[in-house]
Amino acid sequence: MRQVFYPGVLTEDIAITGGDAHHLARVMRAQIGDVITVVDAAGQAAEMAVTELARDAVHLRMQRVLPVETEGREVILVQALLKGEKMDFVVQKAAELGAVCVCPIVTEHVVVRYDAKKTAVKAARWQKIADEAAKQCGRRMLMRVAPIVSLTELLRDPAYIDAADTATVFCYEQEERQSMRTVLRGTEARRVTLIVGAEGGFSPAEATAVTAAGGQSVSLGHRILRAETASLTALAVTQYELGNLDT
Ligand code: SAM
Repeated sequence: MRQVFYPGVLTEDIAITGGDAHHLARVMRAQIGDVITVVDAAGQAAEMAVTELARDAVHLRMQRVLPVETEGREVILVQALLKGEKMDFVVQKAAELGAVCVCPIVTEHVVVRYDAKKTAVKAARWQKIADEAAKQCGRRMLMRVAPIVSLTELLRDPAYIDAADTATVFCYEQEERQSMRTVLRGTEARRVTLIVGAEGGFSPAEATAVTAAGGQSVSLGHRILRAETASLTALAVTQYELGNLDT
């Protein structure tokens, strides 16, 4: 899919610069007259024709505005910080599987601890991974990686946990009865927030706090999955149940 993101608002004539221009000219080998799908920061898309291949920019002219894609119900992944490059993997798969946001959290059993400098480096790294994954799979909207917060802060934030329009699916390794299907088929909520723990899982006190805040604990089966496997599974099952794999 020949598609590029444009950081501004689409107008009659635009210029793609930087890495995207290089990708367009050198990797996709665009030629003058080629028609490319361009998506802007607001998710508006258009077919645009290449008019000029300059040294550090590709110039394009509007051909036709494309209809806005119907957005499925939103899925947010709240992921406890994982060791090494496992967070890179989870962020990349979340972007490919259509999550609108990944929110990294610190829980009792999280073993990694980042100072302000490391936090900034990780935030930039994960957002770059998310952007690249979104572009690679042809998404119309980039996925946001939110700032790291504690579980307690998350449970107080209506952007993630708001019973009025969000179903909070708590992937809890101690849950033996309730399935994701039961929870997902039992809600019409506009947004689904998935919560997945770190390698060491959740403490009983944390599980109590999540369910008290409205989280519905679900089992991902009788096997204990690695955290990154659990996130991938929860995302895929959710997108399938919400019918989002086709949007
Ligand atoms: N240390 C925990 C234990 O031994 O019970 C396992 C934690 S697991 C590696 C990491 C996270 O993946 C869990 O906190 C949970 O969010 C999710 N997870 C893994 N297997 C699951 C399952 N069968 N059902 C629900 N969630 C699961």
